[in-house]
Amino acid sequence: MARRTKIIATIGPASEGDQVLRGMIRAGMDVARLGMAHSTLEENAERLKAIRRIAAEEGRTVGVLVDLTGPKVRAASFGEDPVEFVEDATVQLRIGHLRSRASVIEVDYEAFFRDVEPGGRMSIGDGRVILQLGDLDGERISGTVVHGGVLSGRPGLHIPADRLSLSAPTPEDLRAVGYFLEHEVDMIALSFVRSADDIGRLGTEPHPNGPLVVAKIETAAALADLQGIIEKSGAVMVARGDLGNECGIEVLPVLQKQIIRQCISLGRPAITATQMFESMIAGPEPTRAEVSDVANAIWDGSSAVMLSGETAVGIDPANVVATMSRVAEHADENFDHHGWSAELAELRLTDVDDPASSVTDAMTFATARAVEELGISTIVCVSGSGFTVRSMARFRPSARILGYSADERTVGQLSLSWGTEPFHLPEEGEVDRRVARALDLCRDQAGVPPGELVAVLAGTDPTSRATNELRLERVPGPA
Ligand code: PEP
Repeated sequence: MARRTKIIATIGPASEGDQVLRGMIRAGMDVARLGMAHSTLEENAERLKAIRRIAAEEGRTVGVLVDLTGPKVRAASFGEDPVEFVEDATVQLRIGHLRSRASVIEVDYEAFFRDVEPGGRMSIGDGRVILQLGDLDGERISGTVVHGGVLSGRPGLHIPADRLSLSAPTPEDLRAVGYFLEHEVDMIALSFVRSADDIGRLGTEPHPNGPLVVAKIETAAALADLQGIIEKSGAVMVARGDLGNECGIEVLPVLQKQIIRQCISLGRPAITATQMFESMIAGPEPTRAEVSDVANAIWDGSSAVMLSGETAVGIDPANVVATMSRVAEHADENFDHHGWSAELAELRLTDVDDPASSVTDAMTFATARAVEELGISTIVCVSGSGFTVRSMARFRPSARILGYSADERTVGQLSLSWGTEPFHLPEEGEVDRRVARALDLCRDQAGVPPGELVAVLAGTDPTSRATNELRLERVPGPA
């Protein structure tokens, strides 16, 4: 069986060359993530163009996700070589943006001394180094290393979201959104979301006319408004790095399960992120614990699993993607499809005030049952915005899901959806013509043999999100 869970890989200095990108695409990267914190807009735009060019050469759909920095407080760069912090050493923190060293960390945030809590603990680089802070002393604050480790690049310094004066999206985020809308980026992730209103402030059109907005859940405030945030967003990321800083690492496994379940119930893809194969930044194999983490995230219901530093600055990005692909494929093979869809029948929430949502929910539910009862192995979804495909993917059917859309941006956005093989449908006519074209393409592009019985989901009105037709059709022979 082919892998069903999607892989997102972050592009950075280790992975921006054509050869490495090609290797990552061949190894199974479904979505490339461009982080705004470490590179300029122009550098990231060059990466976006290279990814699209190489994906087209390889005949693959690779979505591009722009991850906005948000109000993240970062240190000035340590440079590319790791800098070691040893336990009990004293470190000074001061405001600046030029260079950080083991003895002095420059913090690139003017209001740092107003927001930081003197006498508190400060986690740097997603917990790689932890300082016990002293009192504020004029233009600096000193800290003692209580948990030593290595830092490189521009690591984040965690200030609890309820103390931080900045909110998301920042003016810099909005500049990046404007810039990447011109490049028709597929997805945009918003960091440090605290409420559903933050998502509205991005000001983008609803997908697929605008990018699919991914809400990163990494603040305590976001947990309090989780349902509102999920309803307002196109997908959600369990951003375990900052979420662990904010809520304590011991609650992460439970929060991960709760957030994913709520995404599933509302039909939104969920991404599990951060430190999945952290040891592969420097080594050829993940730890056994990391392998288990990826498999369990998949069994929790993640649509996609994400690589950060492993592919941005690691020693062998293509090897990391290939390893994650193998691990995910094996977890997918052992996924309890039957148990999942039985549970989903109870879990799913549908908006009865929105006919498009309730009709599509009922139709995809019926399809999940029909394919299981009849042993059908392919579901063809003819979709405009991708809504039908995402709704179908919630049921985690063992059948293949082929997602066809006339909208190129929808095709890119479906790269994130669990189990979905996205295809462009060059046909926008009435429903019979769209279905006939999709059936020809599933034979010619997706290798479904003529004569095979498939389930087809489509909407009679191509401008509506509602799917109101389920057909069981045989794939035609070639004309
Ligand atoms: C995280 O905090 O887990 C995360 C994914 O965000 P970032 O990598 O941007 O810090």
